[in-house]
Amino acid sequence: MSERAHPARAEIVVDLDAVAHNVSTLRDLVAPAALMAVVKADGYGHGMSAVARTARAAGATWLGVATPEEALALRAAGDTGRLLCWLAAPGDSYEEVLAADVDVAAYDVAQFDEVAAAAGRAGVTARVHLKIDTGLSRGGATAEQWPGLCAHARQVEASGAVRVVGVWSHLVASDEPGHPVTDLQAKAFDEAVALAEKAGLQLEVRHLANSAAAIHRADLRHDLVRCGISIYGLDPAPGVPSPVDLVPAMTVQGRLALTKSVPAGAGVSYGHAWVATEETTLGLVPVGYGEGVPRAASPGAEVWVAGRRRPVRGKVCMDQLVVDLHGDSVAAGERYVLFGPGDAGEPTAQDWAEAAGTINYEIVTQLGGRLTRRYVGKDQS
Ligand SMILES: *Cc1c(COP(=O)(O)O)cnc(C)c1O
Repeated sequence: MSERAHPARAEIVVDLDAVAHNVSTLRDLVAPAALMAVVKADGYGHGMSAVARTARAAGATWLGVATPEEALALRAAGDTGRLLCWLAAPGDSYEEVLAADVDVAAYDVAQFDEVAAAAGRAGVTARVHLKIDTGLSRGGATAEQWPGLCAHARQVEASGAVRVVGVWSHLVASDEPGHPVTDLQAKAFDEAVALAEKAGLQLEVRHLANSAAAIHRADLRHDLVRCGISIYGLDPAPGVPSPVDLVPAMTVQGRLALTKSVPAGAGVSYGHAWVATEETTLGLVPVGYGEGVPRAASPGAEVWVAGRRRPVRGKVCMDQLVVDLHGDSVAAGERYVLFGPGDAGEPTAQDWAEAAGTINYEIVTQLGGRLTRRYVGKDQS
């Protein structure tokens, strides 16, 4: 798509060159381990298939998603590479994803048997990644269940319907690289891998690390790392010095709907949570929590307008928010940037996360509503 004649009221611009840069940077960093680009939740709000295509071209040999629907959407969009889907729910049909050559996860014996039965019906050999719960207490077999799961899997492999190709787990506190729980998980993971191999399973990939561990814990990269937030250029471990130079891919921008002057004493937005102490000028930004802009970010958040950061005043509304232009005369239609890579001084998704008391993941992933999305960069599709 090219630049519109009439710039959008409010849009997400995704720089696919930034995604390509991040993916190739991470690929080089983690080699000889392979890189899985995690594109679940519509590519963390960036657009799943465009990000997937860009990531493949930049060297991600695997893609990762949560749900079977996401995996099938990637196949429908033409993706043919290795793709892991890890969060089926009871009642989901494995047949379609297995027929689409998608790798799946199994967390316990019942799930493993469901996969094997579906593979039999689909007439394919399922590739399964067994998950060991090393401490997150989310998905995965417990240490008690693990030997039984491995032995069962080895037995069922003989039927030809299933092949166990991976053992994997997920970390509790990878954003704090020195957290003691990580070493405990690493040890539990090594033990689980050893048990699986002793049970006769011939593993192709062992994988534990997400973005933060891939970057900060070289010892945990194993055969494959699963990188999500970092391929979008956001820092998985804010405050920890990073050896890689990532470029944020998302900019949220548009045009001010209105500007005006208000006198001292004017209360702004619902409940008058902010009252002007002196005469000032205000800008009306036509996005709100209907677009996923967090209401909790005010007070604290800033928006880039006319070369400066401008504080959000009063409550964020459903469709709009108000910024303080401090007496500057700015015309309606002036460009605003909610956040971007930060190069020009504009706020970043990380700044918005801090203002809202959350993590950058949530800021980009929850954006949507009436925002349009546009891709830029030579990889745009
Ligand atoms: C989302 C997810 C990832 C990616 O994590 P990031 O911190 O975004 O790199 C990796 N593994 C699993 C199991 C996930 O759910």
